[in-house]
Amino acid sequence: MPGCELVDDMIRCANEEDFKAMMSDPVAKIEKLQPLWPDNIAIQCFDPAYFATLPDDLKARLLKCVNSGIENPDSEMGCYACQPSDYDDLKPFFSKVLARYHKVPENARHVNDWNLEGVVGLPEDRMLDLSTLGLPALSIRIRCGRNLKDFPLPGSMSRRDRIRLEEKMMAAFEKLIGMPEYGGRYYSLTRGNPCFIDEAAYRDLVDAHIMFKNMDADRYLTAAGIAADWPQGRGCYVSADKEAIIWVGEEDHLRIMCMQRGTVLNEVLNRLKSMLDVVEGIEGLNFAYSSAYGVVTSCPTNLGTGMRASLHLALPNLTADGTDAKAKAIARPLGLSVRGVGGEHTPIGPNGTVDISPSARFCITEAEIVASLYRGIALLMAEESKASP
Ligand code: ADP
Ligand code: MG
Repeated sequence: MPGCELVDDMIRCANEEDFKAMMSDPVAKIEKLQPLWPDNIAIQCFDPAYFATLPDDLKARLLKCVNSGIENPDSEMGCYACQPSDYDDLKPFFSKVLARYHKVPENARHVNDWNLEGVVGLPEDRMLDLSTLGLPALSIRIRCGRNLKDFPLPGSMSRRDRIRLEEKMMAAFEKLIGMPEYGGRYYSLTRGNPCFIDEAAYRDLVDAHIMFKNMDADRYLTAAGIAADWPQGRGCYVSADKEAIIWVGEEDHLRIMCMQRGTVLNEVLNRLKSMLDVVEGIEGLNFAYSSAYGVVTSCPTNLGTGMRASLHLALPNLTADGTDAKAKAIARPLGLSVRGVGGEHTPIGPNGTVDISPSARFCITEAEIVASLYRGIALLMAEESKASP
């Protein structure tokens, strides 16, 4: 079994039989891990007493959710939802996970709101224009994870499910392709698909920050079953101006995003909201929501809004040592995450360019996320100036 890296004594399991044997008493296994991995949220939040109360089908579902954290005990989160109703059906587990990661109460409820009118501390005209902070046009991207409620989440999808999802989305994209403000086309990684693109064309899309990376290379996604059947059922819709993009078959069924070079965050936010409304309005597409938790995503880190709003910013002073270590340390208390210029787990780019985004996604509104990017960038730029040699 690939990536089967277990647990207490870091036993390596050579095959699926060994893995099954080790999972035959998963509770004992998790209990052994608990004192060893205090930062693995799923392992820490797994309560054997709660598990014992569950009927067999829910026991199996909970174990499926935590498998990635058992196989990769160094995980920070260590679990993924695998069915759209997992957050609700396994609430006593997930409410603890969410409280711990997002630093919210266990009975937290999420509210979605894209309207900047309710957000305090913004410029009077509510224009979040980076040029007022002295910045030039930058690459701005806002993405939202979305899942369809009538499919298992990616960790539990069969190959057939993945192909069916792609087929369903390709039919839905016809609507966008027919609209003058979108147009464009779909690119598929599925052999035999009429929109299939070869390896070189795929590489070009990855390099252009349009398409997602090879999921097979990610041991967390692999252990969660999310990378299974790669690259079957994977692809992406790209608008004619290449600024409106929808990934199919990555960590969530859909990652819907707008990306543009400019300074006004409102433009990207508004276009994304319009596109989301068009997609959600397409007959037969029903997104998964939880009544308490808002937008359902595979990873509990993304739950609520599913939104990450980022920009590519040069921080030559804060990255003068050639790494993002100092930028990360300064950005963290500002509520900002720092990634490499090729996305998560990639290095900084030329002139110390990094990807900056607000860390919060849950129990925060969409409008507040974008506002906190604007405010955070102002503070980060002040730190960058202070670090001037
Ligand atoms: P996410 O998990 O939010 O989808 P990743 O970190 O996996 O993002 O990155 C996915 C892709 O999006 C990468 O190619 C990354 O470089 C690109 N990307 C993210 N933010 C920006 C941005 N502001 N401008 C251009 N590309 C971006
Ligand atoms: Mg990602």
